[in-house]
Amino acid sequence: MKITGNMVNYYFVCERKLWLFSHQIQFENENENVKLGKMLDESSYGRNEKHVMLDNVVNLDMLEDWSIIHEIKKTRAIEPAAEWQLKYYMYYLEQKGIQVQKGILDYPRLKQRFEYILTEEDRLKLKEYLDNIKKIVTQKTAPKRIEQSICKSCAYYEYCYI
Ligand code: SF4
Repeated sequence: MKITGNMVNYYFVCERKLWLFSHQIQFENENENVKLGKMLDESSYGRNEKHVMLDNVVNLDMLEDWSIIHEIKKTRAIEPAAEWQLKYYMYYLEQKGIQVQKGILDYPRLKQRFEYILTEEDRLKLKEYLDNIKKIVTQKTAPKRIEQSICKSCAYYEYCYI
């Protein structure tokens, strides 16, 4: 099974969202994604590689000198999801023999950035999370709604509640 960065992100947001997304039920807000991509292209990240897709699995917002991965986010609303998405990218590249020095979560609108390194504990946790993701995705039916305030801004809100 191919596990994408979005799937790792959604695992931390909502298991139902992960399941729906993985079953090709996708209502992502294209406008927001386009805006974010434009912001990245217009940013001052210079000559670094932007929008790097590897194996049709991981889609890096930016790869600096093949050793620093940048993940760009609009808000810090679901930070653990963003952090583990970034760490998954670091882990994925490491598995391919690419030496990753660090990962950076960038919040250009907030003018904030946070740096991460991949620890041995992170690697063990990631293995556990990836196993859990596989179990959720292969369930026959979607997990239950989470009934949280975050649902109101989720692309699946109408699907889940209306
Ligand atoms: S609306 Fe709520 S329950 Fe439905 S997928 Fe989104 S976060 Fe999950």
